Amino acid sequence: MDRQVFTQNLQTAQRRKILLLRIGLSCLFIAICATMWLSKTAITPRGMLLFKGGLIAFFGGLAYVLITLVQKTCRRLDLYCPNCNRNLSGPLRHKVLDSGECFQCGMKLLD
Ligand SMILES: [Zn+2]
Repeated sequence: MDRQVFTQNLQTAQRRKILLLRIGLSCLFIAICATMWLSKTAITPRGMLLFKGGLIAFFGGLAYVLITLVQKTCRRLDLYCPNCNRNLSGPLRHKVLDSGECFQCGMKLLD
């Protein structure tokens, strides 16, 4: 892969990750506000328990969906090592850019 294309794809993946993180944090903020609002209303303890259980299930599902979306984006952008299947857009991406090789298996990736 061309070094410039790799850098561009890394930036695209970063932007996508930040966007998904913002969506997740917004949902968390809304959930916290809803919990505070509900605790001030005359909700039964059982209702509150159901609400909290629902929230936990929702955020479990949301985390799963967001992580899957990030992985799909990285796969579409060729940010996985074809040899060892390691995601190259993680915190060690600068090693790939410096050496042009996969930081795990050492396979040559960039021209
Ligand atoms: Zn590799």
